[in-house]
Amino acid sequence: MLELEKKHPGELEYLQAVREVLESIEEVYNENPQFESAGIIERIVEPDRVLMFKVPWTDDGGKVHVNLGYRVQFNNAIGPYKGGLRFHPSVNLSILKFLGFEQIFKNSLTTLPMGGAKGGSDFDPKGKSNTEIMRFCQSFMLELWKLIGPETDVPAGDIGVGGREIGYMYGMYKKLASENTGVLTGKGLNWGGSLIRPEATGFGAVYFAQEMLNTKGMDFNGKTVCLSGFGNVAWGAALKATELGAKVVTISGPDGYIHDPDGITGEKITYLLELRASNQDIVKPYSYEFPNARFFQGKRPWEVKCDIAIPCATQNELDKADAEKLVANGCICVAEGANMPSTPEAIQVFHEKKVMFAPGKAVNAGGVATSGLEMSQNSMKMGWPREEVDSRLHQIMKDIHSQCVKHGSEPDGYINYVKGANVAGFLKVANAMLDQGVV
Ligand code: NDP
Repeated sequence: MLELEKKHPGELEYLQAVREVLESIEEVYNENPQFESAGIIERIVEPDRVLMFKVPWTDDGGKVHVNLGYRVQFNNAIGPYKGGLRFHPSVNLSILKFLGFEQIFKNSLTTLPMGGAKGGSDFDPKGKSNTEIMRFCQSFMLELWKLIGPETDVPAGDIGVGGREIGYMYGMYKKLASENTGVLTGKGLNWGGSLIRPEATGFGAVYFAQEMLNTKGMDFNGKTVCLSGFGNVAWGAALKATELGAKVVTISGPDGYIHDPDGITGEKITYLLELRASNQDIVKPYSYEFPNARFFQGKRPWEVKCDIAIPCATQNELDKADAEKLVANGCICVAEGANMPSTPEAIQVFHEKKVMFAPGKAVNAGGVATSGLEMSQNSMKMGWPREEVDSRLHQIMKDIHSQCVKHGSEPDGYINYVKGANVAGFLKVANAMLDQGVV
C-alpha cells in the first residue's frame, strides 16, 4: 500500500478500494506463498493499460466543447475486459481505476468468464439535448472503438449511461468496425439486448439481500426499505422489493431525499420512470405530486427508520454518522447497490454492531452477470425469454451469496461479506494469473 500511495498520490478512491481488498485477502495470500513469488499483488493492483483521449463535440448552438474520455483495462485473466462507462462531471482517473479494480473481483464472483475494466468521461449528460448527447457519444466512440471488441473488451452502462447512450455508441462502433456484434451490453431489445438487463442490477441486489435475510430466517415481507438515488439500479431494486412485500420509503438525488411513508409503489415508480426518461429532475416533482411525501433538502435518506438500507447512488454516500443513525434506528441489513457507497468507517460500524452488511461487488454483480448473459445470447445469435434470464440471474446471485458465506463466515457465526467477496473473487483471478505466467 505504501508503494502504491507513493506511485499514485491523490488517487483516493482507487487507493481506498485497493486497501479494502488487500486487507481482506491477507490471510489467504499468506497461506499461498506461490502468489507472492509470482508477484500477483503487484500485478493485480495496476491496470493492464489506460487509454485517455479528448472528446471534442459541438453543442446545438454551434459552440465547441472538449471533454476527457478514458478506458481502464484492468485485468483479463479470466475473460475479455468487461465493465461500464460512466458519464458524470466527477469522473477522473482515480474513480475509474477504483471502479475497474472492483470490477475484476465482481466479475470473478459472477462465475462467468469476464475480466475487469471501466471507462467514461467527465461529460455531464444532464440538461443536454438528444442531438448533443448523440454527437458526444459518437465522438467518444471515434477513439474508443480501436480498443474494444466482442472478444477483447465489452463496455456497458453506468452512471449517466443508459439505453440511449449505448444506442448512439453502438451505432458509431458498427459503422467504424463494419461489424454487427455484441461489443456493448445494455443494448436495445430489438438490436441484440437481453430481456431483464435494464432492471438486472436492482433485481439482483434484492435477490442478494433476500439471501442475507434468509440466513436469519427473515425475508422482505413487511419490511421497510430505504433506497438512495433513483437511477438504473434503484428503480429495479424498488420494483423487486415492493413485489416481495416490502415498503420502499425513500429515494434521493444529489440535492436531497424524498420520504414517502405510504411507500413508493406501482404507479409512483412508473411516474418516476417517465420523468427520468424525459431527462427531468425527479426528486422534487415527486414531492409535489404525492402529498404525503416530503423532500428533505441537502439531507441523506439514512436518517429515516428502516429495516433494510440499499444505497444505490454513488461512492462514499454513506458515512460513519449515517451508519450510526441506521444502527440506532434498528436497521438489520445493508446491501450496497452502488459501488463503494459506504466509507470504510461506516463499514466498521456495521461490522462492530454485527449488522448484516454486504459490499457492492457482491450485491450489484447481477448487472454485469446479466450483461454476461447478453454476451452469451449474442454469440448464439438468439434471445432467451424473460423467465430464463431472470432465473439465471437469481441463481447467480444465490451462488455469489454462497461464495461469500464460504469465505467470510466468522467463528461466532457473523458473515463478513466484505472478506467473503474479496477472497472468493481474488482466488479465482489469482489462480488464473498463476496458470498463465507473468504477462
Ligand atoms: P444512474 O445515473 O442511473 O443513477 C444514479 C442516481 O443517483 C440518480 O438518481 C442520481 O440523481 C443519484 N445521485 C447521483 N449522485 C448522488 C449523490 N451524491 N447523492 C444522492 N443521489 C445521487 O446510475 P446507476 O443507477 O447506473 O448507478 C448507480 C450506482 O450503481 C453507481 O455506483 C454504479 O457504479 C453502480 N452500478 C451500476 C450498475 C448498472 O447496471 N447501471 C451495475 C453495477 C453497479 P440525478 O440523476 O439527479 O443526478
